[in-house]
Amino acid sequence: MNQQTAVTQPNAAKKHLPDAQTVTEVRHYTDRLFYFRTTRPQSLRFRSGEFVMIGLPGEDGKPIMRAYSIASPSWDDGLDFYSIKVQDGPLTSRLQHIKEGDEIILRPKPVGTLVLDALLPGKRLWFLATGTGIAPFASLMRDPETYEQYDEVIMMHTCREVAELEFGRQLIESLPEDPLIGEFVGDKLKYYPTTTREESKWMGRVTDNLASGKVFADLGLEGTQMDPATDRAMVCGSLDFNKDVMAIMEGWGLREGANSEPAEYVVEKAFVG
Ligand SMILES: Cc1cc2nc3c(=O)[nH]c(=O)nc-3n(C[C@H](O)[C@H](O)[C@H](O)COP(=O)(O)OP(=O)(O)OC[C@H]3O[C@@H](n4cnc5c(N)ncnc54)[C@H](O)[C@@H]3O)c2cc1C
Repeated sequence: MNQQTAVTQPNAAKKHLPDAQTVTEVRHYTDRLFYFRTTRPQSLRFRSGEFVMIGLPGEDGKPIMRAYSIASPSWDDGLDFYSIKVQDGPLTSRLQHIKEGDEIILRPKPVGTLVLDALLPGKRLWFLATGTGIAPFASLMRDPETYEQYDEVIMMHTCREVAELEFGRQLIESLPEDPLIGEFVGDKLKYYPTTTREESKWMGRVTDNLASGKVFADLGLEGTQMDPATDRAMVCGSLDFNKDVMAIMEGWGLREGANSEPAEYVVEKAFVG
């Protein structure tokens, strides 16, 4: 089921901005995190895990554009986004106020390295994220190909506080019962949410829980570290997070891949700075 269902026809009469898409839903999680959904341009084809440029017109009329992971899977007829709110951020100081029916600018040129094609075949796939870095995995966790290609999928997500995990938790808990994707997910998806500040069931950084083998013990996984023969990983967080996770995986013998040269893991920044 790698279906490309009919995508929403943009309402030409309502278009005011170039490359405009209409916001169809907004949900706020914390004072720093929110989700929104938009219509999908008919011309937009992408691979689950890729990102696009989205934005709003600035005060001077010039668009303020930023990279955003598409958080919905490639077969979905709308587009999901999961966003930070930076109070003095040029884009998100305003984007955080969007409402249903508003328009955003979306450049329909998807790119990115967090795609299944950039990995060699394997058995166990790891999604490793902090903060909004879960967005591309919200897409990949809903793509049937993820479960067709791997026996086991592990989503490790770390935030400071429990409320910051809520978007991912709601999504992941809904998947086994999802009428479209549930049968593919089955019991293959294992979720390991951790916090670094607020007390919760599992605590600590992705890096520490990987390096110490704690995640393997807590989830009852085979082995105590990744095996380059069978483990594949995708990483999305801050620059420091990405570097630390890469160092651990390189130590286990995994190598970084790319679209042009698939290998054992791929990495993308969740933001610049
Ligand atoms: C490949 C790629 C994909 C991205 N995908 C997403 C996404 O799906 N969701 C999303 O919210 N952002 C994402 N970003 C970041 C996004 O492009 C913007 O930086 C963000 O929307 C803030 O824009 P701004 O203009 O308000 O502030 P900016 O001037 O862009 O950023 C101001 C500062 O805020 C911090 N910051 C920015 N984004 C984040 C973030 N996501 N989490 C924590 N701190 C941040 C950084 O320190 C940055 O220097 C992505 C960035 C890249 C490079």
